Amino acid sequence: MLATASHHHLTLSDGRKVHLRLNHEALTISMDELLIYTFDLAGRLVGAFDHGVNYRRGVDGRVLARWRDERNRRARRWLSGEEAEGLLARMREDVEVISKQYAVISDPYAVGDVLARALAFDYALDVRRFHQVYRPISILPPDQYQALVLQATEGCSFNTCTFCALYRDRPFRIKSPAEFESHVADALDFFGPGLSMRRSIFLADANALIIPQHRLLPLMTLVARAFPILPEDAPTEVRRAWLRGDPRAMTGVFAFVDGLSAERKGMEDFRAMRALGLRRVYIGLESGHEPLLTWLRKPSAAAEMVDAVSRMKDAGLHVGVIVLLGVGGHRFDQGHVEDTAAALNAMPLDGDDIIYFSPFQPDPAAPYLSIARAEGVDRPDDAFMDSQRTRILARLTLPPPPAGPKRAPYNLADFVY
Ligand code: SF4
Repeated sequence: MLATASHHHLTLSDGRKVHLRLNHEALTISMDELLIYTFDLAGRLVGAFDHGVNYRRGVDGRVLARWRDERNRRARRWLSGEEAEGLLARMREDVEVISKQYAVISDPYAVGDVLARALAFDYALDVRRFHQVYRPISILPPDQYQALVLQATEGCSFNTCTFCALYRDRPFRIKSPAEFESHVADALDFFGPGLSMRRSIFLADANALIIPQHRLLPLMTLVARAFPILPEDAPTEVRRAWLRGDPRAMTGVFAFVDGLSAERKGMEDFRAMRALGLRRVYIGLESGHEPLLTWLRKPSAAAEMVDAVSRMKDAGLHVGVIVLLGVGGHRFDQGHVEDTAAALNAMPLDGDDIIYFSPFQPDPAAPYLSIARAEGVDRPDDAFMDSQRTRILARLTLPPPPAGPKRAPYNLADFVY
């Protein structure tokens, strides 16, 4: 295991300057600083940057391209299968040239090993193995995109919310301890040396904490036995050394919860989960406005979610609260803004917590659009959603960071796993 990063500089025969950087998580290759490839230690391409376009490759094989358009606005699109193949082919050509030249210099840091893995990596096989180990990973919170996902459950136990089609492709079910143990082993095998890039555990799917406590604790115990979890409040230096020292070392366990499931857990339940490594729980408040929540067929009331957040905070957990911008259009606008700010203000949020503002992106597979059309509810545009965020923020009485919760964007369109 590398103590720090190792750096190597090469000049290729065509004059291109190459910088290779290897640390305990990744190998990064930069060519003339215009073209950058990032690999995990299994040799799997996870990202690239090519003349202003940023590519994120998911382990499911899909590639999201992001760039700034001529008006400096963020733009993004998924590459076609052919384009994704083209990106891999270009990368292989470059890595082949580099590894030939790199082979003649001394290699005390195993850069050559990762280059060899990158050249030999079988992407088609990797995608097939991913689908054998995982059901689709539909969404994660923005700070968990690099997590090791472990699916203790599949699907959502509600699937009622009119705006959400994330889990309508699968029935809800809870894995048995034996099945979950084998899933954890398969996930470790799938990521291989690439695990060192995954520094937290996300207990999936939509609301894994709905699992009754007597069934949940054995599953979380399995996780705590398989992965060393960073002690809480470890200073930065301890945290760095911890993560460098063991590729399985994790910063904690993270999960979504819905308000109704959280209602069924008491503070002692949350404390027991914290003792097993749970650090932050993400709850989709969406809105504090009760008529809007009812119209959206959310399974829980705003007051229940405020109450659940208070209990999680009392148990020493951190929370991420997700607010949906623009949903319900102008019909619910004023109530949404005022009641959401009121609900957030009623939560005991501090500097360890995050309020996420998520611009509503209607999913054609969900019933929302047809209901909204039938009832004359307008579709929100960017300006309207920006205005809602500004007005909610203006009404917050919570302190600003670092004493109060961070305010962060949550754009579902950026999600890649
Ligand atoms: S928003 Fe959450 S609770 Fe509602 S259907 Fe989607 S995953 Fe389930």
